[in-house]
Amino acid sequence: MNRDQDVEDDTSEMTSEYECLQYGRIVKAETNPGECEKCGGDFQNRAKSVE
Ligand SMILES: [Zn+2]
Repeated sequence: MNRDQDVEDDTSEMTSEYECLQYGRIVKAETNPGECEKCGGDFQNRAKSVE
């Protein structure tokens, strides 16, 4: 059960979700946004969060 994943969209094939670790802000982009424009932190690809 993925209770954290309550966001559903049909663009998941084109875009990935990146999460700002500082704010927990989710940004959808085709490529990694790099640094967060808000806090300058790194984005983590949520799709790759499982290791
Ligand atoms: Zn941020």
